[in-house]
Amino acid sequence: MIYNTTVILGGGTGGIVTAKELRKKLNASDRIIIIEREPIYTFGPSLLWLMAGNRTPSQVQKDIRVLRKRGIEILEAEVNSIDTTSATVYTSSGALGYDQLVIALGAALAPERLPGFKEIAHNIFTLEGALSAGASLRRGGVKRVAVVISSLPYKCPAAPYEAAFLADDILRKRGVRKGSEIRVYTPEPYPMPTAGPAIGEQISSMLAERGIELYHSITVDKLDSRDSKVILSNGTEWNPDIILGIPVHTAPNALAGSGLEAESGYLPVNKFTMSTSQPGVYAIGDVTQIPIGGGKMVPKAGVFAEAEAKVVATRIARDLHHNREEKLFTGKGACFLEIGGNKAGFANGNLYTEGEPSFVLYQPGIQWHLGKVAFEKYFLKRWLS
Ligand SMILES: Cc1cc2nc3c(=O)[nH]c(=O)nc-3n(C[C@H](O)[C@H](O)[C@H](O)COP(=O)(O)OP(=O)(O)OC[C@H]3O[C@@H](n4cnc5c(N)ncnc54)[C@H](O)[C@@H]3O)c2cc1C
Repeated sequence: MIYNTTVILGGGTGGIVTAKELRKKLNASDRIIIIEREPIYTFGPSLLWLMAGNRTPSQVQKDIRVLRKRGIEILEAEVNSIDTTSATVYTSSGALGYDQLVIALGAALAPERLPGFKEIAHNIFTLEGALSAGASLRRGGVKRVAVVISSLPYKCPAAPYEAAFLADDILRKRGVRKGSEIRVYTPEPYPMPTAGPAIGEQISSMLAERGIELYHSITVDKLDSRDSKVILSNGTEWNPDIILGIPVHTAPNALAGSGLEAESGYLPVNKFTMSTSQPGVYAIGDVTQIPIGGGKMVPKAGVFAEAEAKVVATRIARDLHHNREEKLFTGKGACFLEIGGNKAGFANGNLYTEGEPSFVLYQPGIQWHLGKVAFEKYFLKRWLS
């Protein structure tokens, strides 16, 4: 029997959605293989709830090997390199040929790129870092909190601000917010710049209302591990009790030399179809680099990875089975902004609006928080069972 092999690099948000969508659309004889080095998936949006003490790891993690019972092969291996000329992926378990390739390797975290980060910051973009940050925030003595965005781009533009709001909430619950200080240091001109200056202004006001100080358009040069200081490029410094760190993000090493990557290391793709410069090779999610209006880029967020995965699955099925189903990535998306006290804001909009992306931020309320809780439940059940 002739069968096709679709290889998906990365079993994170985009990879698992692609695989499940494809399994629905392809013949049972067509192989779908995910190559993933860490088969325990962590749902990113829940990490800060972990920090806040509202979740345990087992509530936000799932083993992607459950997908084997759905006819999806999981190869637990490190992807080392890609050769599109011979349609081969090289892994720690050997070489694997493909007919279609979907690259969903995400963005890599490189905490070592900001001096001192690994030594003194809690890396809140990891499960361990979110847990340790939460434990420290709840301990007596912690009153000066720095949220440090090491560099741009990073995934989930709302996350650092959520971290600041939730830290504020924790200190209030401990009864020590009076006399405490929370600062956010960011190279961005204002919060969530992709969503535009009006939303930046709204979030800045929400931070100010809670006494959270925003240091924008600022570069952090290093973290001084000896004296526990944040040292800025303008020469000023501050010594917090705790640093909630967003590490430097980079493109995955495995893409180097593939000929698919831009100078940044990330992958340029067609903004509607997610196809790369090579036929049969697609890329989705955080690993991509997609310019949009106003000199901005599509933000690195799961909501876009999920939508792009559905587009790619449809296109692969159409190519293989010559059906007419058409799906394009429209640039529409939304995200929640947790602010503590079981409340969240909700930003909704379109990245591909003519000129500039257009977004609206709805006032925080319990309904948006419950919306995020429902989304967490939906995502883990829909894609990982
Ligand atoms: C704190 C936090 C909060 C967030 N909140 C939100 C939110 O509210 N809304 C939202 O939309 N997004 C949110 N995100 C972002 C979201 O989690 C990511 O954008 C999304 O997971 C990207 O999906 P992806 O498939 O591109 O990459 P990933 O989900 O990161 O998957 C990439 C996979 O590739 C694997 N991999 C990488 N390199 C290799 C290799 N060489 N070999 C083998 N395997 C490899 C990785 O192990 C990983 O499993 C948040 C992220 C964080 C950290």
